Amino acid sequence: MNQRSLKKTLSSLPVGEIRYFESIGSTNDEALAWAAAGARDLSFVIADEQTAGRGRLNRKWFTPKQTALAFSLILRPASNSLLSRTVGLAALSIADSLLKYGLAPSIKWPNDVLLSGKKVAGILIETVWSGTEVDSLVAGMGINVHKESVPPAQYLQFPATSIEDEMGHPPDREELLRDILTAFIARRLQMERANFIKSWEELLAYRGEQVQVNASDTETRSGKLLGLESDGSLRLLGQHGETMIVHFGDVSLRPTS
Ligand code: ADP
Repeated sequence: MNQRSLKKTLSSLPVGEIRYFESIGSTNDEALAWAAAGARDLSFVIADEQTAGRGRLNRKWFTPKQTALAFSLILRPASNSLLSRTVGLAALSIADSLLKYGLAPSIKWPNDVLLSGKKVAGILIETVWSGTEVDSLVAGMGINVHKESVPPAQYLQFPATSIEDEMGHPPDREELLRDILTAFIARRLQMERANFIKSWEELLAYRGEQVQVNASDTETRSGKLLGLESDGSLRLLGQHGETMIVHFGDVSLRPTS
């Protein structure tokens, strides 16, 4: 992977500018600075290695050299009302690409993509503010491609896998990127439709199952995972038949059964 080969592979797509790094701290940090400096919509930062890749709550995201796909897409949203759907857009785009390989992805709400119940990709959406208005968004995506990208178990709170582990061989990383961006651009045009939420909901992991949701600001909630609200919030059914809505935020979801 390099700047020139990326440009060639993506030449048919309406992306913005590309900044490729052999190694970087965090692609999201670079993209946030670039977005604040006025980067065009669909410009992105991509790196062959992250030395300080981030998950939510400043957890670490591992991107060992040349084994994974790690990139951060800059978005200038047309409508602020669609912000909460952006994590779904990213997750669906990754899932679409995995479906193309004959795999069966699911989405662990809100921000992880699973294969065989293990984490294969993570998403981190961050915002660039201009006063109280949203200036732009950065959608960071990390996908485990080669088996060497999977971190050792002692670093994980949730099991992880790679596309190679699930498929028997790794896809070409640039082609995977092209597939994800193609899906992203197509799905983005449909973001306002009710069908968008339906497609997202259909891929949710643990639907109809008991789950536990931990958030830093409220106590743990347990319930049966029912589906999604129109803004992408999660709907659970509590023990006494009550409906609970879980909003985005730094929320961790785990199956309990
Ligand atoms: P969760 O949604 O599982 O609560 P995050 O979305 O915040 O967690 O993701 C960060 C976590 O993902 C880290 O704490 C680590 O356990 C795990 N992780 C880090 N790198 C990888 C990777 N390459 N593949 C799978 N999991 C990873």
